[in-house]
Amino acid sequence: MSDPLDAEGPHDPALRPRTLEEYVGQRKIVDNLRVYIRAAINRGEALDHVLLAGPPGLGKTSLAYIVAEELGVDIRTASGPTIERGGDLAAILTNLGDREVLFIDEIHRLPRSVEEVLYPALEDFEIDVVLGQGPGAQSVKLPLSRFTLVAATTRSGLLTQPLRARFGIHATFDFYEVAELHAIIERSAVRLGVVLTEDGAAELAHRSRGTPRIANRLLRRVRDFAEVEGDGTIDARVAKNALKRLEIDELGLDKMDLRILKTIGEKFAGGPVGLGTLAAAIGESPDTIEDTYEPYLIQQGFIARTPRGRILTPRGRKHIGLPEVDPQGGLF
Ligand code: ADP
Repeated sequence: MSDPLDAEGPHDPALRPRTLEEYVGQRKIVDNLRVYIRAAINRGEALDHVLLAGPPGLGKTSLAYIVAEELGVDIRTASGPTIERGGDLAAILTNLGDREVLFIDEIHRLPRSVEEVLYPALEDFEIDVVLGQGPGAQSVKLPLSRFTLVAATTRSGLLTQPLRARFGIHATFDFYEVAELHAIIERSAVRLGVVLTEDGAAELAHRSRGTPRIANRLLRRVRDFAEVEGDGTIDARVAKNALKRLEIDELGLDKMDLRILKTIGEKFAGGPVGLGTLAAAIGESPDTIEDTYEPYLIQQGFIARTPRGRILTPRGRKHIGLPEVDPQGGLF
Protein backbone atom coordinates (compact mmCIF):
# COMPACT_ATOMS: atom_id res chain seq x y z
CA MET A 1 0.00 0.00 0.00
CA SER A 2 1.40 3.42 -0.80
CA ASP A 3 0.71 6.62 1.10
CA PRO A 4 1.90 10.19 0.92
CA LEU A 5 4.26 9.69 3.84
CA ASP A 6 6.07 7.03 1.89
CA ALA A 7 8.13 8.98 -0.58
CA GLU A 8 9.84 5.72 -1.56
CA GLY A 9 6.93 4.70 -3.73
CA PRO A 10 6.92 0.93 -4.09
CA HIS A 11 7.70 -1.00 -0.95
CA ASP A 12 11.08 -2.54 -0.38
CA PRO A 13 10.54 -6.30 -0.34
CA ALA A 14 13.94 -6.80 1.30
CA LEU A 15 12.64 -5.22 4.50
CA ARG A 16 9.36 -7.09 4.77
CA PRO A 17 9.18 -9.63 7.58
CA ARG A 18 8.61 -13.10 6.06
CA THR A 19 7.33 -15.13 9.01
CA LEU A 20 5.31 -14.58 12.18
CA GLU A 21 8.58 -15.06 14.06
CA GLU A 22 10.15 -12.10 12.25
CA TYR A 23 7.07 -9.91 12.61
CA VAL A 24 7.73 -7.39 15.37
CA GLY A 25 4.94 -6.16 17.66
CA GLN A 26 1.14 -6.45 17.33
CA ARG A 27 1.52 -9.30 19.83
CA LYS A 28 -2.15 -10.04 20.40
CA ILE A 29 -2.91 -10.21 16.69
CA VAL A 30 0.14 -12.38 15.96
CA ASP A 31 -0.39 -14.76 18.88
CA ASN A 32 -4.02 -15.34 18.00
CA LEU A 33 -3.30 -15.78 14.30
CA ARG A 34 -0.65 -18.35 15.13
CA VAL A 35 -3.31 -20.44 16.90
CA TYR A 36 -5.90 -20.05 14.13
CA ILE A 37 -3.34 -20.97 11.45
CA ARG A 38 -2.16 -24.04 13.34
CA ALA A 39 -5.76 -25.16 13.95
CA ALA A 40 -6.66 -24.73 10.26
CA ILE A 41 -3.58 -26.68 9.17
CA ASN A 42 -4.30 -29.49 11.65
CA ARG A 43 -7.86 -29.80 10.38
CA GLY A 44 -6.76 -29.53 6.75
CA GLU A 45 -9.20 -26.66 6.30
CA ALA A 46 -8.97 -23.16 4.86
CA LEU A 47 -8.35 -20.45 7.46
CA ASP A 48 -11.39 -18.27 8.25
CA HIS A 49 -11.54 -14.94 6.41
CA VAL A 50 -9.37 -12.28 8.06
CA LEU A 51 -9.99 -8.51 8.23
CA LEU A 52 -6.95 -6.35 9.00
CA ALA A 53 -7.77 -2.76 9.95
CA GLY A 54 -5.53 0.18 10.75
CA PRO A 55 -3.67 3.21 9.41
CA PRO A 56 -1.23 2.86 6.47
CA GLY A 57 2.26 1.46 7.00
CA LEU A 58 1.53 -0.62 10.10
CA GLY A 59 2.15 -3.99 8.47
CA LYS A 60 -1.21 -5.21 7.16
CA THR A 61 0.09 -6.24 3.72
CA SER A 62 3.15 -7.85 5.28
CA LEU A 63 0.93 -9.86 7.59
CA ALA A 64 -1.29 -11.02 4.71
CA TYR A 65 1.78 -12.45 2.93
CA ILE A 66 2.92 -14.06 6.15
CA VAL A 67 -0.46 -15.74 6.66
CA ALA A 68 -0.12 -17.41 3.23
CA GLU A 69 3.50 -18.32 3.95
CA GLU A 70 2.61 -19.89 7.30
CA LEU A 71 -0.32 -21.76 5.75
CA GLY A 72 2.03 -22.99 3.02
CA VAL A 73 -0.27 -21.79 0.23
CA ASP A 74 -0.13 -19.33 -2.67
CA ILE A 75 -1.40 -15.79 -2.38
CA ARG A 76 -3.16 -13.70 -5.04
CA THR A 77 -3.44 -9.98 -4.55
CA ALA A 78 -5.90 -7.33 -5.67
CA SER A 79 -6.99 -3.91 -4.55
CA GLY A 80 -10.58 -2.74 -3.91
CA PRO A 81 -10.73 0.11 -6.42
CA THR A 82 -9.15 -1.90 -9.24
CA ILE A 83 -11.86 -4.58 -9.15
CA GLU A 84 -14.41 -2.61 -11.12
CA ARG A 85 -17.00 -5.20 -12.09
CA GLY A 86 -18.45 -8.37 -10.66
CA GLY A 87 -16.93 -10.27 -13.58
CA ASP A 88 -13.41 -9.12 -12.59
CA LEU A 89 -13.89 -10.57 -9.14
CA ALA A 90 -15.46 -13.75 -10.51
CA ALA A 91 -12.35 -14.28 -12.68
CA ILE A 92 -10.08 -13.91 -9.67
CA LEU A 93 -12.18 -16.16 -7.45
CA THR A 94 -12.57 -18.99 -9.95
CA ASN A 95 -8.80 -19.12 -10.37
CA LEU A 96 -8.10 -19.66 -6.67
CA GLY A 97 -6.85 -23.07 -5.59
CA ASP A 98 -7.84 -25.00 -2.48
CA ARG A 99 -7.03 -23.15 0.79
CA GLU A 100 -5.23 -20.37 -1.11
CA VAL A 101 -5.18 -16.80 0.15
CA LEU A 102 -6.75 -13.89 -1.71
CA PHE A 103 -5.49 -10.55 -0.39
CA ILE A 104 -7.68 -7.53 -1.17
CA ASP A 105 -6.16 -4.23 -0.10
CA GLU A 106 -8.42 -1.22 0.52
CA ILE A 107 -11.48 -3.43 0.71
CA HIS A 108 -13.60 -0.42 1.74
CA ARG A 109 -13.19 0.90 -1.81
CA LEU A 110 -14.72 -2.18 -3.44
CA PRO A 111 -17.72 -1.12 -5.56
CA ARG A 112 -21.07 -2.23 -4.08
CA SER A 113 -21.97 -4.36 -7.10
CA VAL A 114 -18.71 -6.28 -6.67
CA GLU A 115 -19.30 -6.62 -2.95
CA GLU A 116 -22.50 -8.49 -3.69
CA VAL A 117 -20.61 -11.06 -5.74
CA LEU A 118 -18.31 -11.51 -2.77
CA TYR A 119 -21.00 -12.41 -0.21
CA PRO A 120 -21.89 -15.93 -1.45
CA ALA A 121 -18.23 -16.51 -2.27
CA LEU A 122 -17.22 -15.85 1.32
CA GLU A 123 -20.09 -17.69 2.92
CA ASP A 124 -20.83 -20.68 0.69
CA PHE A 125 -17.79 -20.74 -1.60
CA GLU A 126 -19.88 -20.26 -4.69
CA ILE A 127 -20.78 -17.43 -7.02
CA ASP A 128 -23.93 -16.71 -8.97
CA VAL A 129 -23.29 -16.38 -12.67
CA VAL A 130 -25.98 -15.09 -15.01
CA LEU A 131 -26.03 -16.81 -18.41
CA GLY A 132 -27.75 -15.13 -21.33
CA GLN A 133 -29.81 -11.96 -21.35
CA GLY A 134 -33.40 -10.85 -21.05
CA PRO A 135 -36.26 -13.19 -20.03
CA GLY A 136 -34.26 -16.29 -21.00
CA ALA A 137 -31.37 -15.40 -18.69
CA GLN A 138 -30.48 -18.09 -16.19
CA SER A 139 -28.65 -17.82 -12.94
CA VAL A 140 -26.32 -20.71 -12.18
CA LYS A 141 -24.18 -21.33 -9.14
CA LEU A 142 -20.50 -21.90 -9.76
CA PRO A 143 -18.62 -23.69 -7.00
CA LEU A 144 -15.28 -22.23 -5.80
CA SER A 145 -12.34 -23.72 -3.97
CA ARG A 146 -12.33 -23.20 -0.21
CA PHE A 147 -10.15 -20.11 0.03
CA THR A 148 -9.25 -17.50 2.64
CA LEU A 149 -9.88 -13.83 2.04
CA VAL A 150 -7.42 -11.59 3.86
CA ALA A 151 -8.65 -8.02 3.48
CA ALA A 152 -7.01 -4.81 4.60
CA THR A 153 -8.62 -1.46 5.27
CA THR A 154 -7.55 1.90 6.61
CA ARG A 155 -11.20 2.72 7.28
CA SER A 156 -13.07 -0.18 8.82
CA GLY A 157 -15.90 2.26 9.61
CA LEU A 158 -16.71 2.44 5.90
CA LEU A 159 -17.28 -1.31 5.56
CA THR A 160 -20.87 -2.38 5.23
CA GLN A 161 -22.25 -4.51 8.05
CA PRO A 162 -22.96 -7.57 5.84
CA LEU A 163 -19.36 -7.56 4.58
CA ARG A 164 -17.84 -7.07 8.00
CA ALA A 165 -19.96 -9.93 9.38
CA ARG A 166 -18.45 -12.38 6.91
CA PHE A 167 -14.97 -12.17 8.42
CA GLY A 168 -14.35 -14.73 11.15
CA ILE A 169 -11.15 -13.04 12.30
CA HIS A 170 -10.93 -9.28 12.96
CA ALA A 171 -7.59 -7.66 13.74
CA THR A 172 -7.23 -3.97 14.54
CA PHE A 173 -3.68 -2.63 14.39
CA ASP A 174 -2.18 -0.28 16.95
CA PHE A 175 0.67 2.16 16.42
CA TYR A 176 3.99 0.55 17.43
CA GLU A 177 5.85 1.17 20.68
CA VAL A 178 9.22 2.90 20.47
CA ALA A 179 11.00 -0.30 21.56
CA GLU A 180 9.33 -2.23 18.73
CA LEU A 181 10.31 0.40 16.16
CA HIS A 182 13.82 0.27 17.57
CA ALA A 183 13.93 -3.47 16.89
CA ILE A 184 12.55 -3.01 13.36
CA ILE A 185 15.11 -0.29 12.57
CA GLU A 186 18.00 -2.42 13.84
CA ARG A 187 16.87 -5.35 11.76
CA SER A 188 16.46 -3.19 8.66
CA ALA A 189 19.92 -1.67 9.20
CA VAL A 190 21.44 -5.15 9.17
CA ARG A 191 19.57 -6.01 5.99
CA LEU A 192 20.61 -2.78 4.27
CA GLY A 193 24.19 -3.04 5.54
CA VAL A 194 23.95 0.26 7.44
CA VAL A 195 26.16 0.96 10.46
CA LEU A 196 23.83 2.21 13.17
CA THR A 197 24.64 2.93 16.81
CA GLU A 198 22.25 2.21 19.67
CA ASP A 199 21.50 5.89 20.23
CA GLY A 200 21.12 6.46 16.48
CA ALA A 201 18.45 3.73 16.37
CA ALA A 202 16.76 5.22 19.45
CA GLU A 203 16.59 8.64 17.82
CA LEU A 204 14.96 7.24 14.67
CA ALA A 205 12.56 5.05 16.65
CA HIS A 206 11.29 8.05 18.61
CA ARG A 207 10.58 9.97 15.45
CA SER A 208 8.85 7.30 13.37
CA ARG A 209 5.25 8.21 14.18
CA GLY A 210 4.65 4.71 15.57
CA THR A 211 4.82 3.37 12.00
CA PRO A 212 7.28 0.76 10.63
CA ARG A 213 7.04 2.08 7.08
CA ILE A 214 8.11 5.52 8.28
CA ALA A 215 10.88 3.99 10.42
CA ASN A 216 12.32 2.28 7.35
CA ARG A 217 11.93 5.38 5.23
CA LEU A 218 13.74 7.55 7.79
CA LEU A 219 16.51 4.98 8.03
CA ARG A 220 17.06 5.09 4.26
CA ARG A 221 17.03 8.88 4.09
CA VAL A 222 19.29 9.35 7.10
CA ARG A 223 21.67 6.79 5.64
CA ASP A 224 22.00 9.02 2.57
CA PHE A 225 23.07 11.96 4.73
CA ALA A 226 25.42 9.74 6.75
CA GLU A 227 27.11 8.40 3.63
CA VAL A 228 27.40 11.66 1.72
CA GLU A 229 28.21 14.04 4.54
CA GLY A 230 29.78 11.70 7.10
CA ASP A 231 31.56 8.35 7.30
CA GLY A 232 28.36 6.35 6.81
CA THR A 233 27.70 5.64 10.48
CA ILE A 234 24.34 6.71 11.88
CA ASP A 235 24.64 7.85 15.48
CA ALA A 236 22.32 10.17 17.41
CA ARG A 237 24.08 13.32 16.20
CA VAL A 238 23.97 12.31 12.54
CA ALA A 239 20.34 11.24 12.91
CA LYS A 240 19.33 14.50 14.59
CA ASN A 241 21.00 16.60 11.90
CA ALA A 242 19.49 14.60 9.06
CA LEU A 243 16.01 14.67 10.62
CA LYS A 244 16.27 18.43 10.92
CA ARG A 245 17.04 18.62 7.21
CA LEU A 246 14.05 16.34 6.54
CA GLU A 247 11.90 18.74 8.59
CA ILE A 248 10.84 16.07 11.05
CA ASP A 249 10.42 17.56 14.51
CA GLU A 250 11.47 16.11 17.90
CA LEU A 251 8.22 14.20 18.22
CA GLY A 252 8.38 12.82 14.70
CA LEU A 253 5.78 15.17 13.21
CA ASP A 254 6.43 16.14 9.60
CA LYS A 255 5.59 19.29 7.68
CA MET A 256 2.03 18.22 6.89
CA ASP A 257 1.30 17.24 10.52
CA LEU A 258 2.46 20.66 11.64
CA ARG A 259 0.49 22.34 8.91
CA ILE A 260 -2.65 20.61 10.14
CA LEU A 261 -2.02 21.68 13.73
CA LYS A 262 -1.19 25.26 12.74
CA THR A 263 -4.15 25.58 10.42
CA ILE A 264 -6.59 24.48 13.12
CA GLY A 265 -4.81 26.58 15.72
CA GLU A 266 -4.22 29.77 13.80
CA LYS A 267 -6.70 29.93 10.91
CA PHE A 268 -9.60 28.40 12.79
CA ALA A 269 -8.81 29.66 16.28
CA GLY A 270 -8.33 26.13 17.64
CA GLY A 271 -11.47 24.74 15.99
CA PRO A 272 -13.89 23.11 15.77
CA VAL A 273 -13.38 22.93 12.03
CA GLY A 274 -15.01 20.44 9.66
CA LEU A 275 -12.81 17.97 7.77
CA GLY A 276 -13.75 19.37 4.33
CA THR A 277 -12.95 22.94 5.36
CA LEU A 278 -9.67 21.89 6.93
CA ALA A 279 -8.71 19.88 3.84
CA ALA A 280 -9.46 22.82 1.54
CA ALA A 281 -7.43 25.20 3.71
CA ILE A 282 -4.45 22.83 3.64
CA GLY A 283 -4.73 21.74 0.03
CA GLU A 284 -4.85 18.03 0.84
CA SER A 285 -7.66 15.53 0.23
CA PRO A 286 -10.01 14.83 3.15
CA ASP A 287 -9.33 11.09 2.73
CA THR A 288 -5.59 11.54 3.09
CA ILE A 289 -6.01 13.65 6.20
CA GLU A 290 -8.41 11.14 7.71
CA ASP A 291 -6.50 7.97 6.76
CA THR A 292 -2.89 9.02 7.02
CA TYR A 293 -2.39 12.02 9.28
CA GLU A 294 -5.22 12.25 11.73
CA PRO A 295 -5.01 8.83 13.43
CA TYR A 296 -1.56 9.51 14.86
CA LEU A 297 -2.33 13.12 15.79
CA ILE A 298 -5.42 11.91 17.65
CA GLN A 299 -3.63 8.97 19.27
CA GLN A 300 -0.92 11.34 20.52
CA GLY A 301 -3.53 13.78 21.81
CA PHE A 302 -2.67 16.75 19.56
CA ILE A 303 -6.12 17.03 18.05
CA ALA A 304 -9.52 15.63 18.92
CA ARG A 305 -12.65 14.86 16.97
CA THR A 306 -15.88 16.40 18.20
CA PRO A 307 -19.34 16.25 16.67
CA ARG A 308 -18.75 19.77 15.35
CA GLY A 309 -15.35 19.11 13.83
CA ARG A 310 -11.66 18.84 14.71
CA ILE A 311 -10.19 20.82 17.59
CA LEU A 312 -6.67 21.42 18.76
CA THR A 313 -6.09 20.03 22.26
CA PRO A 314 -4.00 21.80 24.92
CA ARG A 315 -1.10 19.52 23.96
CA GLY A 316 -1.51 20.49 20.31
CA ARG A 317 -1.61 24.19 21.18
CA LYS A 318 1.53 23.84 23.24
CA HIS A 319 3.33 21.98 20.49
CA ILE A 320 2.88 24.80 17.99
CA GLY A 321 3.64 27.46 20.58
CA LEU A 322 0.15 28.88 21.12
CA PRO A 323 -0.72 30.24 24.57
CA GLU A 324 -2.85 28.07 26.84
CA VAL A 325 -6.54 28.74 26.65
CA ASP A 326 -8.48 29.89 29.67
CA PRO A 327 -10.86 27.02 30.50
CA GLN A 328 -13.61 29.67 30.75
CA GLY A 329 -12.74 30.75 27.24
CA GLY A 330 -15.17 28.22 25.89
CA LEU A 331 -12.80 26.13 23.81
CA PHE A 332 -12.28 23.18 26.11
P1 ADP B 1 0.32 -1.62 5.35
O1 ADP B 1 -0.13 -2.73 4.44
O2 ADP B 1 -0.37 -1.66 6.69
O3 ADP B 1 0.27 -0.26 4.73
P2 ADP B 1 2.97 -2.80 5.03
O4 ADP B 1 2.73 -4.24 5.37
O5 ADP B 1 3.10 -2.46 3.59
O6 ADP B 1 1.84 -1.87 5.72
O7 ADP B 1 4.26 -2.34 5.87
C1 ADP B 1 5.12 -1.32 5.43
C2 ADP B 1 6.56 -1.72 5.67
O8 ADP B 1 6.83 -1.64 7.08
C3 ADP B 1 6.89 -3.15 5.28
O9 ADP B 1 7.44 -3.20 3.99
C4 ADP B 1 7.91 -3.59 6.29
O10 ADP B 1 9.19 -3.25 5.83
C5 ADP B 1 7.62 -2.75 7.50
N1 ADP B 1 6.86 -3.47 8.55
C6 ADP B 1 5.53 -3.39 8.76
N2 ADP B 1 5.18 -4.12 9.83
C7 ADP B 1 6.30 -4.67 10.31
C8 ADP B 1 6.57 -5.51 11.43
N3 ADP B 1 5.59 -5.90 12.27
N4 ADP B 1 7.82 -5.91 11.64
C9 ADP B 1 8.81 -5.49 10.81
N5 ADP B 1 8.62 -4.68 9.74
C10 ADP B 1 7.39 -4.26 9.50
